[in-house]
Amino acid sequence: MGTIQALRGTRDILPSEVGYWQRVESVAREILGKAAYQEIRTPIFEQTDLYERGIGEATDVVGKEMYTFKDRGDRSITLRPEGTAGVARSVIEQNLIAAGGVQRLWYTGPMFRYERPGAGRQRQFHQLGVEVIGSGAARADAEVIAIATDILQTLGLRNLQLNINSLGKQQDRQLYRQALVDYLTPYKDELDKDSQDRLTRNPMRILDSKDKRTQEIAGDAPSILDYLGDDSKRHFEQVKQLLSDLGIGYKINPRLVRGLDYYTHTAFEIISDADNLGSQGTVCGGGRYDGLVAELGGSDTPAVGWAIGLERLIILLQQTANAPTSELDFYLVSRGDRAESLALVLAQKLRGAGFSVELDLSGSAFKKQFSRADKSGAIACLILGDEEAASQTVKLKWMATKEQEALAIADLLDKTVEMRQQIDSRR
Ligand code: ATP
Ligand code: MG
Repeated sequence: MGTIQALRGTRDILPSEVGYWQRVESVAREILGKAAYQEIRTPIFEQTDLYERGIGEATDVVGKEMYTFKDRGDRSITLRPEGTAGVARSVIEQNLIAAGGVQRLWYTGPMFRYERPGAGRQRQFHQLGVEVIGSGAARADAEVIAIATDILQTLGLRNLQLNINSLGKQQDRQLYRQALVDYLTPYKDELDKDSQDRLTRNPMRILDSKDKRTQEIAGDAPSILDYLGDDSKRHFEQVKQLLSDLGIGYKINPRLVRGLDYYTHTAFEIISDADNLGSQGTVCGGGRYDGLVAELGGSDTPAVGWAIGLERLIILLQQTANAPTSELDFYLVSRGDRAESLALVLAQKLRGAGFSVELDLSGSAFKKQFSRADKSGAIACLILGDEEAASQTVKLKWMATKEQEALAIADLLDKTVEMRQQIDSRR
């Protein structure tokens, strides 16, 4: 019988690389915690309607990329393709901003899009995202950008470029959209196939096309920045000033439109120039979405946020940093019935006292167990044989120097503070 393989566009995150994921999560958790963002966990599937209304039917995500199915109760269900709509739904449903306050939220987890898989592009992928819901202040835009920058820099990533744009308000966009269609229509036959479709459905997305000829044509298109009303201009100026105050460099890219319908005012992306990501170089994308909460039936509520693509981030991290390794204190080897039982009990006691302990379960010859101890990365090896079991002692071997000493088990468990210091000084 054939073996079963993971689905196309999905990947196992194996123990050898999971250290990167844990590092990203812990850095993010710490930075977000310091800025008073709270974690929210929403369901992985939602009513299909949520995404059709929230993201917009003309977008690629809703039009071509969703995993949508009927459940056994004949409801249309969609695996979440992104996190913002679910968070907004929850905030409305749970009345989280009833008091007119601001909610600072973050989330992480898998997202699902039916796309053509490639480097940094999967069908099940992971995002870490933040949403500040209830503030229309330019400071909120700048704060979320500063936090994204902080996370990426703390992880050690360099050569990242922040691109920003303003999409203005709905009215500004309508004027611009018309100007864009007027400009592009004469070139219709020269545009790539997708962009021809978008000309009526979602013309601003054409600016984002990866096709070379379309890019050339889009290069001379009118700029959204010339269509912004006074409020939109002021907001954009403030965001730029605040970024400068924060010492965050940026490039204005008037062709940055982003894929989802709900953006207003600020749109931004943080892009890496690493060539192994190719056209998948956008690590973080976000912006302001003042229309979304109302679109989903809530009160008029401004909001701003971003999402980092974790697979892409980790591809970059793997180039710049070694995989974080687990920090094992003891590797415990034992042989003989009494010694083996005692070893398990000792392992549990040491773990309870705060040490990390790997217990060799093989029952094989000491020599084989020692060679595994060598590879384990432990600071010390603890050895229990028949003799030690009979005398309630244990041999301790420091891996780096090969020095050995014999200890009474009771002493070892008694002097944990000294042992901790010894281990730390040898790490
Ligand atoms: P792209 O233009 O690359 O398709 P997008 O605009 O569709 O990106 P967003 O919806 O803004 O992406 O999602 C935010 C981030 O999530 C992206 O910048 C990227 O890092 C990541 N991302 C999006 N789709 C995928 C995917 N299929 N596989 C892996 N990461 C993804
Ligand atoms: Mg996409």
